[in-house]
Amino acid sequence: MFNLEKLVRKHILTLKPYSSARDEYSGNEGIFIDANENPYHSVGNLDFNRYPDPYQKELKKEIAEIKNVAANQIFLGNGSDEIIDYITRTFCEPYQDNILIMPPTFAMYKVNALINTVEVKEAPLDQNFQMDEKKVHELIDENTKVVYVCTPNNPTGNNLAYQAIINILESDYNGIVVIDEAYLEFSGRDSFTSMLDKYPNMIVLQTFSKAWGMAGLRLGMGFASSEIIHMLNKIKPPYNLSQLTQETALKALSQKEQMTKMVEDMIIERKFLEEEFAKLSVVEKIYPSDTNFILVRVSNPNKVFTTLLNKLIIVRNQSHVAQCEGCLRITAGTREENIALIETLQELS
Ligand code: PMP
Repeated sequence: MFNLEKLVRKHILTLKPYSSARDEYSGNEGIFIDANENPYHSVGNLDFNRYPDPYQKELKKEIAEIKNVAANQIFLGNGSDEIIDYITRTFCEPYQDNILIMPPTFAMYKVNALINTVEVKEAPLDQNFQMDEKKVHELIDENTKVVYVCTPNNPTGNNLAYQAIINILESDYNGIVVIDEAYLEFSGRDSFTSMLDKYPNMIVLQTFSKAWGMAGLRLGMGFASSEIIHMLNKIKPPYNLSQLTQETALKALSQKEQMTKMVEDMIIERKFLEEEFAKLSVVEKIYPSDTNFILVRVSNPNKVFTTLLNKLIIVRNQSHVAQCEGCLRITAGTREENIALIETLQELS
């Protein structure tokens, strides 16, 4: 049985969180001389002299509506990277606990665990970049506090099989299962957020960095039971999202159809690249993608990478990553950028 209180690090469970100046009164009216702010305005006549809402109520209300979840099932971070850090620090005791990842996958899960002196267990994906369920279940032990499932997976680009994910959620493993859906919008499948009530040990991550085109803003979303969100709220710095971030995201959410259109365009561009790559002899293998990027195996990857770099075309060299030997990860750019890429690859073919 999942027992959140048993799973959370003991000192976090008993921690009395920092209480911010506006925790007792969050209305708009009044004389605010409680937070040592500047009462005039920001330098440059901007409107940032007050601290932002620590729980981002307005923004969460909008996100809750769009995502069809309750506002208290949402945690917002300075990118999903920040949420990954809070997950580690809420659940994993340094020098004792471990997380489980399925490489090749997003590198931050491991790096963040190592920063926090938390062990990393690895159950590599199989040849088709699908979950090795037997290995995953073998490796999980009593100190495994978080299992990361990235779907679609970065850098391989594919969705993981739905049933394999459900099998972890339904197994007797009672630690946290993180489903990282950073590329969900490109994938054509439904979000796991519709199953929040069914799986109390699940945290779903999404981001504004990809489909929404707001990587520079830094805004990530975590969806989980209100009890888990309460624990994450306990350890976050009070003002982790700026007023600018909150206001800008609200504006973006009111123009959601632009996001949908851009996702369609990015998928068209990814398909264009796939078709063009298939004509090139330098490209040995194109891995199927459910994202806005493609993993390709090329002959002589370092040479291809450097040739592209010399033309100021920057791709991600994955050739040193186990199971991605010889591979480059290439994001679908604009049509013009993609043509520049193809022309250079043609010279190498
Ligand atoms: N998860 C995955 C799978 C990613 O690829 C990335 C970004 N490369 C992130 C999370 C981090 O996203 P954010 O910009 O929200 O920190």
